[in-house]
Parts: sequence; structure tokens; C-alpha cells
Amino acid sequence: MMVECPHCYLSVLPNSDNTCPSCGKNINDVTGTDLSNKIVEIKIGEELPFICCKCGQRADENVIVKETMSSSKFPVFLRIIFLFFRPLYLLVQDNNSKNIKLQLKMPICKMCKEVHEIKPSYVDFQNNKISFIVNSNFREELYKKRRKEQE
Ligand SMILES: [Zn+2]
Ligand SMILES: [Zn+2]
Repeated sequence: MMVECPHCYLSVLPNSDNTCPSCGKNINDVTGTDLSNKIVEIKIGEELPFICCKCGQRADENVIVKETMSSSKFPVFLRIIFLFFRPLYLLVQDNNSKNIKLQLKMPICKMCKEVHEIKPSYVDFQNNKISFIVNSNFREELYKKRRKEQE
């Protein structure tokens, strides 16, 4: 049975000794974990509840989260060679600008914005999805929203 690991928040199939295959910690041992944190996968463009994603209280604003996948990372020595063949180098730069970019707005309250940096825990560039560790309240409201939209 898949369970959510209380340590790394991923949905995992625990090993026979109840350890998480992802982080190696015991999934039954919740000491030192924050149970109000949950992982959620958000699709780009999805409407989010206006609840702070960190504390689950009313949000004040949105933070923009941007992720870029660079399709080609050229080694430095190649860049230097390209500098001597400028037209070619420009061509390469043009190709680089076709990088896949994902952007979404996460609701947050003023207080959390000062102390937390909103960082994705996983980015799925193929399916336009970004996963975050969020407050369980935020996730619950998001799931409610999704259920409503399906009806
Ligand atoms: Zn884990
Ligand atoms: Zn907050």
C-alpha cells in the first residue's frame, strides 16, 4: 500500500522494515516531523485557493515561482570556441532560448513570505506540473476545488 512518507512527503511503497525507499527513514516514526506539511502536485494554470501555502491561513499575495529546464548545457571550452565563430555561437544561444519554462503563482501570507522561500520539491517539465511541500490546509482546499470542478 502506498503511503505518504512523513519525512520526505513522497508517496512511497515502504520497504518490509517500514523504511522509506526514498529517504531511508522509518515511516512509522514521526518524531521531529511536521505533520501539517503535505506534498501537492500543481498543474500550471490551475486555479489555486487563496490560502497561504505555508501556514494554511488567509493569503495576502502571490509569489511567482519560475522554473527553467535548460535543454543544452554547453561546457565552458565549447563556449570559448564558439566565441571565435560568433555566428555559430549566436545560433546556439537562439536554441537555448527555447528552454522549457514553467511559471505559477503560489498564494502566501505576508509573514510567511518573509521567512519562507517557496521552492518546488519536484518539477515535471513534460506534464507542466510542479510539486510543492505545502500546509495540509492548503492541499485540502485545493482538493476540494478540484472535486467541485469535476462535478
Ligand atoms: Zn521518505
Ligand atoms: Zn502564511
